[in-house]
Amino acid sequence: MPELPEVETIRRGLVGCVVREKGGKILSVKVLEEKSFIGEPSSVVGASVVKMRRRGKALMFDLDNGKSLICHLRMTGQFIWVGEERFAGGHPNDNFIADLPNKQTRVILEFEKGKLFFNDQRKFGFIKVVETGEVEKDAFIAKLAKEPWEMEGRELYEKLQRHNGAPIKSVILDQTVICGLGNIYADEALFYAKIHPRRKAGSLSLAETSKLVEGARVVMERSLEAGGSTIRNYVKSDGTKGDYLELFAEVFNRQGQSCRRCGEKIVKTKVGGRGTHFCPKCQKEC
Ligand SMILES: [Zn+2]
Repeated sequence: MPELPEVETIRRGLVGCVVREKGGKILSVKVLEEKSFIGEPSSVVGASVVKMRRRGKALMFDLDNGKSLICHLRMTGQFIWVGEERFAGGHPNDNFIADLPNKQTRVILEFEKGKLFFNDQRKFGFIKVVETGEVEKDAFIAKLAKEPWEMEGRELYEKLQRHNGAPIKSVILDQTVICGLGNIYADEALFYAKIHPRRKAGSLSLAETSKLVEGARVVMERSLEAGGSTIRNYVKSDGTKGDYLELFAEVFNRQGQSCRRCGEKIVKTKVGGRGTHFCPKCQKEC
């Protein structure tokens, strides 16, 4: 599943393809799978994209006719732009370079200057038409907490008190507590702040919590610089494979390897059912 930096990478890539004169007007919307498109396809025909936004892992195309498209990629969604240039982002597989449409194509947005394919093998993702003024009220958007860039340590600290007994790793994965941390970035942010993933959320000091928020920002920014992340190779906008994990991960998928800070072996365990990586020396349990 793409994490926040991957979705931001997609947003930045699509800005260069579909916004205003880059893409031109939407000429048609072909819905090949009904559950992948919610709303009336004809209501966006003739409109242009004026802005691409992201909130958590949702992408929004704001149109010049008062409508917006909210998109969730979920497990296997992809956006592939085929125009003068080709841009692909989302779940990485051969669709990135294949002829389209194919049997995983769910929606085709035909613009004046190219086609945007929404592919989604497992069909959990979707595109939804809403009024632009209603985007923030959408059920998926409204419940999201602030992202690390918008949040101070004290705000997270106060929220942690309400999840006192739960392991900190599980609490920071809760998108209603802090938005944007998936499994990879939660492990990396905890390592950055030298906090054991199983510590009780309520046991963190304000200083530790502030360091954790800082760590969340730092690790996601490093990932963005590396061009986005997933476990498997990620095909970037220029067709090369992203190797972001090698570029920045300190603990994720590094079990058995030496901690770059202290030399201890990185350990993999489970916390709240999720694979969790940490350094037992840098991140003490108490
Ligand atoms: Zn260490």
